[in-house]
Amino acid sequence: MQIHDVMFIIARETSSFFHMLDEDIAALTLTHYLYEIGVKDIVVFPEKEEDKYIADVEQAFERFLAEHAAKLYCISCWTSTYAVAMDFAKKIKANKPDAVIIAGGPHFFSVDEIKNTLENEDVDAVFRGGGEPFLRFASAMLVDGTVNILKENGRNAFYGNLPSKGMYVLKDGILSGNGKGTFPYPVIPMVSVSGENIEIRTMFNDSCPNGCDYCVIEHAKTDRKYTPVLGKMIKKSVEEIKEQLPSEIILSLSDSAPFSRINRQNTEAFMKNVYSHAGFGGMNVFVDPADLDEDFYRLVEQFNINTFFIGRDRVIEDSFTGRRLYRLLRSTAELDDEYRILKDFIFFLKDRKTECKQEVFLGYILSPYEDELGSQKMINEIIDFTVQCSDIKNVRVQSNMFLLNPYPGTRVAQRAEGEFIPMRYFYYPYPNTWTGVNTVNIYLEIVRLIIAKMFCNNGNISFYKPMLQLAHDLQYKRSFDYGLLDDIDSKNLKRFAIMLTDKILSLNLGDEKFLDDYLGNILSLHYIGCMLSIVLFRPEYAERKGLYEKIIREDGVAEFLKRDLSMIKKYAQKNKETFYGRYDF
Ligand code: SF4
Repeated sequence: MQIHDVMFIIARETSSFFHMLDEDIAALTLTHYLYEIGVKDIVVFPEKEEDKYIADVEQAFERFLAEHAAKLYCISCWTSTYAVAMDFAKKIKANKPDAVIIAGGPHFFSVDEIKNTLENEDVDAVFRGGGEPFLRFASAMLVDGTVNILKENGRNAFYGNLPSKGMYVLKDGILSGNGKGTFPYPVIPMVSVSGENIEIRTMFNDSCPNGCDYCVIEHAKTDRKYTPVLGKMIKKSVEEIKEQLPSEIILSLSDSAPFSRINRQNTEAFMKNVYSHAGFGGMNVFVDPADLDEDFYRLVEQFNINTFFIGRDRVIEDSFTGRRLYRLLRSTAELDDEYRILKDFIFFLKDRKTECKQEVFLGYILSPYEDELGSQKMINEIIDFTVQCSDIKNVRVQSNMFLLNPYPGTRVAQRAEGEFIPMRYFYYPYPNTWTGVNTVNIYLEIVRLIIAKMFCNNGNISFYKPMLQLAHDLQYKRSFDYGLLDDIDSKNLKRFAIMLTDKILSLNLGDEKFLDDYLGNILSLHYIGCMLSIVLFRPEYAERKGLYEKIIREDGVAEFLKRDLSMIKKYAQKNKETFYGRYDF
């Protein structure tokens, strides 16, 4: 067993398709700076690529824990992996009752959530906001030896040189700590393979003026004096890649709203700085529909931006979800205008003289209280973008739908208190937490378990469109038009789509009498979603006999869903005034 200074555990899940833990630029940056301040012996989990598959991650962690121990265990977690991350903390404490475990990351946006975590006793301290207080703490504990750790009431208590802000502990059952940490230093460029290209992911100023009610971004800004350093770091990464590989290098800027009015000037200055050091074969950015103006077109040309992640999110004014622009609720008229702006933008891309593959990813959010008109408008728009762009050869437009999540600490979570089960209890990475009596639960389940596993694009619109319409029709009790499947060219795939549709309709979603039947149907939707993903990825599997049964036997992620369903069942038995109250037990 090796005893290290730090074990850094990164629990970030990002892909609904592959269910893999992802690397996190913030966590990578913290491990880099730990090393810089003198904490040299650091191990990071997941250690290997195969450890990242979420269905195997618990066993992988146990294997890792059997080989490694540390003076300080640091868990960086996102809400979607919180339950798994806290199980990791339990496993550490079970193996080493005196282990010092601290946690941080986007999940701890909310002070209530911090308190809840500390009350569960596996974590000794939580760091909120940017990572500077964490680095100070690690340096004091592991390098200077100016932090004393004493056992009090069965848990680790910290004394000595502690950060004044951003570190939270529980003292005699009372939460102690204040404020948030900042992080002014440059983030470390993260290099990864993306298709045929190498991607360098960076972050400069992650802030957004819009303040949507469901958003959890922690504003983080690189201090201006470090901008040249960040540029040089990116240059160094480019040079190292070029020495080894002939691949094209893409710069990926992870800032949430780099082209909003208040951020644009600084973003442009930063990009000029970076491009003065190195050229790129393309660039990925996040951009708001409201920011797609003529000046942005200029920047697209100047920096050869070719991939655009655009949060369209809502198509009608919606005070429950709270889609905002400069803090004001976006009206339906404004959202309609954004639709026109988006179309103009796609036609601008079409006319560009660039060799780069151009891609536009549009994200939509389904509200738990979606009404029929809003839903149909959203479906029509998603389909319309794909159909209208189908003969544009140099731009690929992909859209997808996701569920509104009541992330802890957001205004949505405050507004909807009592209408959902807190996200921390769910293991399945894309949970449906909503429990209000009038929520569109059938729709939510089909979207998260089937639709979110696809993207609507030219390649699969013939599948995406009927599946999405089916979700809508089942929710609003409309009859489904099988004619929608006629657009599927391949006979095999068409037979498969009919079989899939029959299978979903045969579940009689919404008409179940018993809760167990409803929960069983959710599990079936998960398996159907897996089957669809496999066939879209490998169309030759469409005719494969026993595919569904094989998925039931072998799919590991279902175990997470089953845990959630049994938790929901217990919750439903105690809370009859919810959506689940309509079922017999
Ligand atoms: S526009 Fe996007 S990044 Fe900005 S507040 Fe809304 S959801 Fe968050």
